[in-house]
Amino acid sequence: MINNASTLNNKRRIGIMGGTFDPIHFGHLLAAEESHRELELDEIIFIPTGQPPHKCKISSQEHRYDMTLLATAGIPYFSVSRMEIDRGKPSHTIDTLRELKAIMGNEVEFCFITGLDAMLSISSWKEYMELPHLCRLVTVTRPGYSPKNLHELPQQIREAIVFIEIPRFSLSSTNIRERISEGKGAKYLVPDAVEDYIRKCRLYLSHK
Ligand code: ATP
Ligand code: MG
Repeated sequence: MINNASTLNNKRRIGIMGGTFDPIHFGHLLAAEESHRELELDEIIFIPTGQPPHKCKISSQEHRYDMTLLATAGIPYFSVSRMEIDRGKPSHTIDTLRELKAIMGNEVEFCFITGLDAMLSISSWKEYMELPHLCRLVTVTRPGYSPKNLHELPQQIREAIVFIEIPRFSLSSTNIRERISEGKGAKYLVPDAVEDYIRKCRLYLSHK
């Protein structure tokens, strides 16, 4: 496991931030921002999942895509891709990385960014042992999960992990959906533009 940019090579480095983003919140943005800074990434592409294999009742793809666009607007090194949404099938990280590699070629080093919770469940992902051939597995701290548990992952996965300590943000989309359904709102948990969007589209008023 490595924990700084020095051992990465000189290729163009692109961060990939996948997520359901239902809704996108400051925990996601902080994970991306800290990875960008620590690993000197050239850019970060946010990729909202189309149909996540592990989740059933989620907001429409277009709402999640629009909120991700609003949250990242104005940050020159952040962009949003529709590739998983437009695929129209369940989204798997391995398929996305293969597609990106085919488009961008070998001169790019991909850094797939996840929170610790997601990395600890990597063995449930499709063809997960192939991922180290395609990308670095950038893993950021997430409250409630211990980095010690990373040692239980297979060695090939561990060797691809770049672990980054970020300020612990005890925040999840589930928690935000619950708060909104209870009338508490999401101020200071999501960007203002996302909060406005949630209110105007009347999202999450009944918790799923
Ligand atoms: P949900 O509660 O619906 O699962 P979530 O907040 O976990 O939502 P996801 O869209 O599932 O958000 O997560 C996308 C990615 O962002 C995952 O890799 C997850 O680990 C990471 N992430 C989400 N919230 C945080 C946070 N507060 N700190 C660090 N990483 C986070
Ligand atoms: Mg999650």
